[in-house]
Amino acid sequence: MPQPVVAIIGRPNVGKSTLFNRLVGKRLALVDDQPGVTRDRREGDASLLGLDFRIIDTAGYEDDDVATLPGRMRAQTEAAVRDSDVSLFLIDARVGVTPLDEEIARWLRGTNRPVVLMANKAEGKAGEAGIFEAMALGLGDPIAFSAEHGEGVADLFEALRPHIEREDDEPEDDADEADAILKIAIVGRPNAGKSTLVNRLLGEDRLITGPEAGITRDSISVDWEWTDFEDQPRKVRLIDTAGLRKKARVEEKLEKLSVMDTLRSIDFAEVVVLLLDATRGLEVQDLKIADRVLQEGRALIIALNKWDVAENASSLFNGVKGALEEGLSQAKGIPVLTVSAVTGKGLDMLMKVAFETREAWSRRVSTGQLNRWFERAIEANPPPAPGGKRIKPRYVTQNKTRPPSFVLFGTRVDLLPTSYQRYLINGLRKEFDFGAVPVRLSLRAPKNPFDHSKD
Ligand code: GDP
Ligand code: GDP
Repeated sequence: MPQPVVAIIGRPNVGKSTLFNRLVGKRLALVDDQPGVTRDRREGDASLLGLDFRIIDTAGYEDDDVATLPGRMRAQTEAAVRDSDVSLFLIDARVGVTPLDEEIARWLRGTNRPVVLMANKAEGKAGEAGIFEAMALGLGDPIAFSAEHGEGVADLFEALRPHIEREDDEPEDDADEADAILKIAIVGRPNAGKSTLVNRLLGEDRLITGPEAGITRDSISVDWEWTDFEDQPRKVRLIDTAGLRKKARVEEKLEKLSVMDTLRSIDFAEVVVLLLDATRGLEVQDLKIADRVLQEGRALIIALNKWDVAENASSLFNGVKGALEEGLSQAKGIPVLTVSAVTGKGLDMLMKVAFETREAWSRRVSTGQLNRWFERAIEANPPPAPGGKRIKPRYVTQNKTRPPSFVLFGTRVDLLPTSYQRYLINGLRKEFDFGAVPVRLSLRAPKNPFDHSKD
């Protein structure tokens, strides 16, 4: 999948190179000296608060003969716009809109290509008039930005995100997501009943494709359909469980739970079912697997198997719930279901919950909704002031799904204590029904607003 491409355009001296350098960070641009169109072009890998893209800078011809400048610039700009998914059109907020800016804007309006208008050098009062003028360019409201001081980063992120995220990150819409094949792994200790469960779930008649070597050399997956409660077929891919391997008659060692095996299946799954033998309860090994699933950002469901032979059902169930909460920091809300792989009881419910959990895991919350919640949360429980210094959280945005990940911006938010971060994460979880899906929160203080974590 090629990276999304962003072009920086604008007349000379508006701050294109400064922006380019900030976005690319230390990974310096190579000059692409392909003859012709791309002649003056610098390109680099950029990262903005977790959004990754390729960036093209069209600066670099200021030394040219002034007389030919507009023409050259136009060719350069046209090429960059044509080759990119979205363009950042910079004006200088201190100078205001110039005739050349207007000419570029007129041309851009005619191209129907996505454009993000940026009023750069907007720090302080000197930029205010320019921001206002830029509104008249007919390219939407400008982002008040300062490439030099790193202001306006959150707004730039918001404006770029819809153009940058690709299908491999995001489903186009919810309908597609619900229809997409559910990738599920069933893990657990030996004898928990994994193979029995797989056999029961598949049933020979539901087997669409036979077990076949898949994703990695010795991993196996099998596709089948589950008929949901509305009698609709739902596509499911079972990933590399020990149960499948038995079915495929792959040579089998004395089966010992190998961490590597489990990790590999977790890696390819969206939802992981941790199967427990109810007659044996929850053991340390199970907690380790559960913890790992959550650490890897996968959605976790716990299924208590062999419920047909379970004694003292309710105390058993509560015992497992209690042990989970004690042993696992993020245990709250993790679905715990009772099933019998032998009788088939509870398996439809298990699949239903698996689909619902995947939906939560993939859910995107709008920035508006998010910040309405956020303001209430901050007001209800203002953040502390360590050493008398106020922490001012300002803005929160969801930068990823699968699992849902959020970025919090504000002054000194990097000093927020873990307990307060947990308060916010739990609030997010509750407000937007994430259940037990792992929710991530990262903190960005504006003194370091450009994310170069990959440098
Ligand atoms: P380019 O010709 O469009 O690539 O512009 P440059 O990146 O070379 O910037 C032109 C001048 O504007 C330089 O002196 C920069 O330091 C300055 N500049 C860039 N961004 C900002 C900003 O956000 N605020 C201020 N005040 N100056 C800036
Ligand atoms: P695996 O090692 O996790 O794949 O476990 P198996 O599927 O081989 O099952 C281990 C043992 O538990 C077998 O004897 C199964 O018949 C039994 N078993 C599996 N599921 C159930 C169940 O729901 N109820 C009962 N009573 N026994 C089960």
